[in-house]
Amino acid sequence: MNNKINIRKEIQEIAESIISTRRDVHKHPELGFQEFRTAKLIATRLRELGIEIQTKVGKTGVVATIQGIESGQTIALRADMDALPIQENSDINYKSVNDGVMHACGHDGHIAMLLGVAEVLKTKSIRGTVKLIFQPAEEGEGGAKFMIEDGCLDGVDEIYGVHLWNYQKFGTIGIKSGPVMAAADGFKIDIKGIGGHGATPQGTVDAIVVTSHLITALQTIVSRNTDPLENTVITVGKIEGGSNFNVISDSVHLEGTARAYTEENRIMIKQRMKEIIDGTAKAFGAEILFEYKDGYPPTINHPEPTETMRSASEKIVGENVGKPFLSMGGEDFSYYAQKIPASYGFIGSTPKHLKPEDIQHHSSHFNFEEDAMLIGASLLLQIIDDKMVIK
Ligand code: MN
Repeated sequence: MNNKINIRKEIQEIAESIISTRRDVHKHPELGFQEFRTAKLIATRLRELGIEIQTKVGKTGVVATIQGIESGQTIALRADMDALPIQENSDINYKSVNDGVMHACGHDGHIAMLLGVAEVLKTKSIRGTVKLIFQPAEEGEGGAKFMIEDGCLDGVDEIYGVHLWNYQKFGTIGIKSGPVMAAADGFKIDIKGIGGHGATPQGTVDAIVVTSHLITALQTIVSRNTDPLENTVITVGKIEGGSNFNVISDSVHLEGTARAYTEENRIMIKQRMKEIIDGTAKAFGAEILFEYKDGYPPTINHPEPTETMRSASEKIVGENVGKPFLSMGGEDFSYYAQKIPASYGFIGSTPKHLKPEDIQHHSSHFNFEEDAMLIGASLLLQIIDDKMVIK
């Protein structure tokens, strides 16, 4: 089927505008639920295009609705808007002016791409409705949940999203059905023993010794309880305990994260952690308190929209469509995918001329290849072109 939109040409025509929007947003990053300037910029742009919008959705989100000339499906495209609490360490001329806040994951690019899509679509005749969802607070607070509660998915048949992804070469698109981002849960553990003199351990319950056994035992959930063909991670990232070299500590505090690609493994981890903690407490005569906090669910791509995205991707980058670079990172797009058919893709954006430290997402040097936004915007447009553009 031929394109109705000449995507390459139309995106090329607005390339400069996409890049300058991205740099504007990059220079003025805002943390989750504080995206006031960002939301205003988005709203102003959409109003100028004559597109109907709703603001303050999910606190600081914006939803745009582009009505077609005929009735049909409603498809949503999603961009996240928030930055991270990182001090930018670079010498680019659009470096963050907000101290300690930085777009270090590419969400600035996601916004610019989706505004580019709006600009092109505005001039087209479509069958059905396109909703553009600009969502706050992806980095931890689950802005997607708040958007859904405020009705952003009402009447929506399918939703698509993409992430600029420096772990993949520029020019590639990664797409697959099934899990693509992990469940990202958190836990806190408090080990309580009986303190004493470092030279008279008898009669004490050494919280540090108990902790050592516990951390080692927790690692067996990954190595011995997880199907080796599946993926889980348990990381104890914080440990606090003890006061002096000759004192047996009476308490240790641990914090960590657990990751899994399936709900089954998530439940298994939670249960095994509890068993190991209870067993360790019993074995050593300690008391151990355990708090497990569910984070984002795993992001699971539905087969049908993923097929739509794959065939659209092939039209944009030909044979450079492949499996995405997968990580155990979390993503709150998962909440949309729990509600309606959804697919999340990865746009290769490794910077062509930058240093290795510029590649890492969430690093203070992070930057991406800006032309990757043209590929991302083209892909989103292609999906709409394939499904609903008349002319
Ligand atoms: Mn991100």
